[in-house]
Amino acid sequence: MLNKKVAELLNDQVNKEFYSAYLYLALANYYHDENLDGFANWYEIQAKEEMDHAMLMVKYLQNNDYSVTLEAIAKPEVKIESFKDPLTISLQHERYVTALINNIYEAALETKDYRSQKFLDWFIDEQGEEEKNATDMVKRFELFGNDPKGLYALDSEYKARTYSAPSLQLD
Ligand code: MG
Repeated sequence: MLNKKVAELLNDQVNKEFYSAYLYLALANYYHDENLDGFANWYEIQAKEEMDHAMLMVKYLQNNDYSVTLEAIAKPEVKIESFKDPLTISLQHERYVTALINNIYEAALETKDYRSQKFLDWFIDEQGEEEKNATDMVKRFELFGNDPKGLYALDSEYKARTYSAPSLQLD
């Protein structure tokens, strides 16, 4: 049986992962409007990954006999004034998500909920990747993004990103 506090935090995180999907979809929409379809593609795939994260948590809770509660997903409020803004918004957001995951892990440690610690290990690694990707995108934009040819090259590269299912699968 899961620790109750850990299960409640994971249930809250389901909503936060769906919010992340919503946020990234908002960023994809912005880039679509600006005809930067490669950046839009990158964020659409990012949105799918966030839904995968939410569903993994739903599945984990269900598999452990916890009844999941779904709350309203907040409207993404983003102020975008430049092509770079979504990239910095994403980096800040992923740092925030890392703190949330760490907080759940902390609760699992404190309550000796070893099963949830193992489950969360995947998310700890995943957040490392998310922060690295977001950081790289900011830095590469700073290097190349202010030149039209550089921006075109970045957009073409991000257009090539394809979706793949998460390496963690739960039955
Ligand atoms: Mg996530």
